[in-house]
Amino acid sequence: MNFRSDESFALQLDKEDQLSSYRERFYIPQHKGEDTVYFTGNSLGLQPRSAASALEQELQDWQNLGVEGHFHGKNPWFHYHKFLTPKAAKLVGSKESEVVIMNNLTVNLHLMMVSFYRPTSDRFKIIMEGGAFPSDQYAMETQVKFHGFDPKQAIVEVFPRKDEYHLRTEDILETIKEHGDSVALVMFSGVQYYTGQMFNIHEITKAAHSIGALAGFDLAHAAGNIKLDLHNDNVDFAVWCSYKYLNSGPGGVSGVFVHERHGNNPDLPRFAGWWGHDENTRFLMKKGFIPEKGAAGWQISNAPVLTMAVHNASLSIFDEVGMDKIVEKGRLLNQFVEFHIRDAAVRNRKLKFEIITPEERGCQLSILAGRNGKDLFDYLMANGVIVDWREPNVIRLAPVPLYNSFMDVYRFGQLLREY
Ligand SMILES: *Cc1c(COP(=O)(O)O)cnc(C)c1O
Repeated sequence: MNFRSDESFALQLDKEDQLSSYRERFYIPQHKGEDTVYFTGNSLGLQPRSAASALEQELQDWQNLGVEGHFHGKNPWFHYHKFLTPKAAKLVGSKESEVVIMNNLTVNLHLMMVSFYRPTSDRFKIIMEGGAFPSDQYAMETQVKFHGFDPKQAIVEVFPRKDEYHLRTEDILETIKEHGDSVALVMFSGVQYYTGQMFNIHEITKAAHSIGALAGFDLAHAAGNIKLDLHNDNVDFAVWCSYKYLNSGPGGVSGVFVHERHGNNPDLPRFAGWWGHDENTRFLMKKGFIPEKGAAGWQISNAPVLTMAVHNASLSIFDEVGMDKIVEKGRLLNQFVEFHIRDAAVRNRKLKFEIITPEERGCQLSILAGRNGKDLFDYLMANGVIVDWREPNVIRLAPVPLYNSFMDVYRFGQLLREY
């Protein structure tokens, strides 16, 4: 599409936008009595207006029924996760039995590692992207040490080539091949949190399997952002959070995918608790752990119903719209941001920056800002554009298809031109 930088063009795009009405389903934070331009949905997604009533329902049942809410509430808490499973499965492209909503993200990553990182003296390495989100780095480091290995030898990080900002798929695949049968696990993010690069989950998984390793993914920045097809991509396991693109509130509950070829194997080692025990005999409180079939067998504690209620409300919106439409609008919105950035840079010589996010992306753009980057960031924030600053000099912005408008992008572009 041939974009234009004037206001009427942005208004026209909003008019043609099939998803424009969804903005009203969210609370938009205010700045000086106006909607902010909220570009940090990759960090904390906005609150759906339906969240409060979903939460209120569970508070009501608790208020009126007490413990009886487990079986007699409107949404019985005993198997509360099942209300979320079908929607979560659709979101990540899996069978319902392959997903479960539980715990928090890094906790789930550790739980998955218990089952899927079982190093031997020959096969002990983990291949991962260099510069991964710190929590994932710490998880890998401490898992490796837990098994008695030295992270320096066991963790292989793949970095971009000199003077490049993102990874080439060929380099990832080559590294996997090169380390061959010393690799136990290939662990990547779905979308890189810093650069916004979308990784090729299908190819990375295939390469991992070809050397006899397993493939796991942290989809914190991918779930609700890009189209996922975890079952068909043959991914072994994946984890994600609900509070970024999935708009389910600070500290919100996490999701887990376990491919069915593992999910129905009761012999896989795991750390168990009563909520993962066979549902039919869970309350008999007997000795001997019998896992539920599928991902549900990795549950440990009883469901955190209050945060799950909010997540459920949010997932309903994704279910209603479907990822195809979200991705389609996201692409256009993202291109429009890029257009405004480039347009502003041509008109305003003060702006010096480089977009480091490759074409393989979701809706995040990362801008390597020049020496005055922090000043530009402060200027945007002071003018009601909420973006994210990452040391040493990257501004990240995520135009989110469910609630950002093309006028948001125009307002951002205008501020850049006037900077
Ligand atoms: C946001 C994010 C986390 C945060 O982990 P929590 O356990 O939810 O605090 C971890 N890993 C990645 C890749 C993330 O993007």
